[in-house]
Amino acid sequence: MVDLPFFVKFVNSLHISNEEMQTDYLDDAAYISRRAREWGFTDAELELDLISLKDLRSAIRSILLAASRGRTVNDQDFEQVNKAIQPDVRLFELLADKENLVAAQITQQNNFKPHEFLAHDFARSVSQYGVKRFKLCANDACLWAFHDTSKNGLKKWCSSAACGNTDKVRRFRERKKLAT
Ligand SMILES: [Zn+2]
Repeated sequence: MVDLPFFVKFVNSLHISNEEMQTDYLDDAAYISRRAREWGFTDAELELDLISLKDLRSAIRSILLAASRGRTVNDQDFEQVNKAIQPDVRLFELLADKENLVAAQITQQNNFKPHEFLAHDFARSVSQYGVKRFKLCANDACLWAFHDTSKNGLKKWCSSAACGNTDKVRRFRERKKLAT
């Protein structure tokens, strides 16, 4: 099992319950605290940068939506992500342990901001797996971001059984309508 890239959880911090209801977990202190620990920041650092984070999240969401639906990606969204990627940012560092084995980990000496870190993670994940592997659920009332690790890469729905079923129900109804 491949580890879920950080940016996927970040995109899902805007939780869409249906077309009318969204919850923004970036406004939730407990959520900020959890993610800050995971990403190597303090709560204050994350809260300080909420606007940049939300702007970046919208841009990534928009890129993933275009990629998932076969539409052209908006240039402004690319620019938004790329301007957050600083060339002098050190995201990973190599480590040697006692046995001289070398591993890479997120650098402890953070010299980047939270949105820069996430923009890097997004770009790195896309270069590693390809943009077509990161999708928003085909259910427009859901739009949950996920990493498609299936063999054929044709997964359209998030892991929620309900989303796939909604479509099955819809197709069934359409067929029924055609038949009557
Ligand atoms: Zn879904």
